[in-house]
Amino acid sequence: AKEIHQLLDDEPIVTEIQFKHWQWIADYYMCTLGEVVRGALPGSFLLESETLVLPNKLDQVDEALLSDNEFLILEALRHQSSLKIDEISKIIDRKRVLPIVNQLVQKQAILLKETLHEQYRPKMEKYLRLNRAYESEAELERLLEKLARAQKQSQALLAFFQLKSQQKSRVKVNDFVKFSGISKAVIKALIDKEIFESYEIRADRVQFDVNSKEVSQIELSAQQEKAVVDIKGNFENDKVCLLYGVTSSGKTEVYLKFINEVIETGKQVLYLLPEIALTSQLINRLMAYFGNKIAVYHSKYSLNERVEVWNNVLHGNDKAQVIVGTRSALLLPFTHLGLIVVDEEHESSFKQFDPAPRYHARDAAIVLSNLHNSKCILGSATPSLETFFNTKSKKYGIAQMLRRYGDVLMPEIELVDIKEATRKKRMKGHFSEQLLEEISNCLAEKEQVILFQNRRGFAPIVECTTCGHATQCPNCDVSLTYHQHRNQLRCHYCGYHMSLLQSCQACGNNTLDTKGFGTEQIQEELLKLFPEYRIGRMDLDTTRGKYAYEKIINAFEQQEFDILVGTQMVTKGLDFRNVALVGIMNADSLLNFPDYRSHERGFQLMTQVAGRAGRTEKRGKVLIQTYNPYHQILHQVSNYDYKKMFSEQLYEREQFKYPPHVRIIRITLKDKDYNKLNEASDWFASSLRNVLKVQVLGPEYPTVARIRNQYLKNILIKINTTESITRIKNSIRRIENSFNAISQYRSIRLVYDVDHI
Ligand code: ADP
Ligand code: ZN
Repeated sequence: AKEIHQLLDDEPIVTEIQFKHWQWIADYYMCTLGEVVRGALPGSFLLESETLVLPNKLDQVDEALLSDNEFLILEALRHQSSLKIDEISKIIDRKRVLPIVNQLVQKQAILLKETLHEQYRPKMEKYLRLNRAYESEAELERLLEKLARAQKQSQALLAFFQLKSQQKSRVKVNDFVKFSGISKAVIKALIDKEIFESYEIRADRVQFDVNSKEVSQIELSAQQEKAVVDIKGNFENDKVCLLYGVTSSGKTEVYLKFINEVIETGKQVLYLLPEIALTSQLINRLMAYFGNKIAVYHSKYSLNERVEVWNNVLHGNDKAQVIVGTRSALLLPFTHLGLIVVDEEHESSFKQFDPAPRYHARDAAIVLSNLHNSKCILGSATPSLETFFNTKSKKYGIAQMLRRYGDVLMPEIELVDIKEATRKKRMKGHFSEQLLEEISNCLAEKEQVILFQNRRGFAPIVECTTCGHATQCPNCDVSLTYHQHRNQLRCHYCGYHMSLLQSCQACGNNTLDTKGFGTEQIQEELLKLFPEYRIGRMDLDTTRGKYAYEKIINAFEQQEFDILVGTQMVTKGLDFRNVALVGIMNADSLLNFPDYRSHERGFQLMTQVAGRAGRTEKRGKVLIQTYNPYHQILHQVSNYDYKKMFSEQLYEREQFKYPPHVRIIRITLKDKDYNKLNEASDWFASSLRNVLKVQVLGPEYPTVARIRNQYLKNILIKINTTESITRIKNSIRRIENSFNAISQYRSIRLVYDVDHI
């Protein structure tokens, strides 16, 4: 036991239920509780990408008190002035890096360059009031008389009363200065004379502008009413309910109805979204109904802002009665949760990949909902196979809305054979004549267009046409993507970048050419094809800033762009009224990648992006360009045949034993030493085979077999749904213990991914 050094909080900042939930996440997803806590708490993040520096006053640290490892890190910092946390693993054993760095931070021997470690500081605002001594009219008159010669001061006093009666609330110093033009010196003089008093109040960091203050009444359509009744029926039987409603069927209004009922009982609501890009539209809709009871929580918020939301949730403050957020909002300290809505539940971004906890927010939401005895709605136009399967087996309930709101027609979907078009020379760049014609028609009608291409950058490959050499990342087994506006080659895995080469690194000829295309190239081609129109782009490269998403989405809503080119960010639940045409530049890239989910995903992505078109009376249109117009998924997409896709894919999953028929745990081994990794992963896989009576696949290299100079190998464990997953995890842990005892494998990193997707 160690002595208590400092009491950080006056009251617990974590609730009991929250702790139980975190424990479940740690157990189920095979990570430590500490990893869950680190992912949940908005302070004390230690990220491997964080940079360490020395503080200005180093003499405070007594070197005699440092351990050898701590000393080594400090020495290295003196020579290099800054270090990344993952660089420290070159100096000391990587498993010990984070705890040691943490120690050093606590001893204030080093600082994190990022400000994440700063203590939360509430934001204070200064206010002004009149000294109580002058409350009565008589006193006030006497005061004004006294100030008769101090003209500015009496003016200030009058202005103060004016503003106060105008605002009917407290007077902020800043507002007062702005309103009256009185200088701060005069205000100070009045404070010194004890006529004014200044005081501070804690202010909200996160504030929204409420555009429409009137509380609109939701009037549901018959289809929506029916869905509400069905969902309630399932709630009565304590079931999670899937709201399966086609794009633009009005799922959001159904959620609003339930949210409204829950907050009237004083309970909290959690509304999970897969993507930050979706928050701004939703917030506007929610604010119109619920005013300032809405709080938002996601990774673009600063530490201080997140702490503020955390505290509001913990204290059951009605400023945070409805929390809208991405994945991590699930880890907030809810005290009386009444409803969780998981919108677009099929989205794979609900699963966290790195770092641990590698949890699926939808599944963890259902567990949280059970812990709170609350309700849970999953919503989607293209449910995940797992969820739809769960409704078939009656584990979850289902409510359906198969028509669009207002009986607007689903857009007409047409396939364009680009192999044929290329043969007949009917392509302009990456555009078929058909697509160009539809775009022109649409623009002529002053309607908007969305074009979807699932890659960012200009081109994913730069290749020499003489020798065939493609420029690779030096740290990863992947080719570098060309980004034109920076004239750079960049690695999308590790961030490595270099300027574009003039000649081939292998043969020296000046015959470099690009292959494939990304959003940047499409935008570039459009600028030439439609020079008189405005073309926006939404992808990871254009949405880095805090409000970057909002800016692009608002601009497109306000019709400041005619065409929006984007990656999958444009496919999700955005609601644009004026989009008449959606073009999918290349469907094949969505369907042909080595993953058992690629068909399901392709169907979901294309159906979702198609759903952005024609949301009003006029029927929308979707063109899908493909080299293989006979692909069954493309037919299911163009016929809106989710159920056919579901039954076909489910049959295949059954044949080849994939989820939802089995559970998958993926174990990834990583090391810089190729031979050692091979040896170790063989050892691990054969131990698993010897101990477990389940199917073990691999070890196998993933598609990108080396990332950041680490080689990777995967082992897949398939577990029958009838089998106890806990027992199997325990066996895996035992094998891990023997593995860790083998000294030459100590450098190897093991990563568990339960329900890998
Ligand atoms: P989904 O989430 O199912 O794609 P939305 O909830 O975005 O669909 O609804 C599609 C459009 O229909 C939105 O513009 C929404 O405002 C409108 N809408 C849906 N239900 C109603 C309703 N009951 N009353 C008025 N407008 C509605
Ligand atoms: Zn790389």
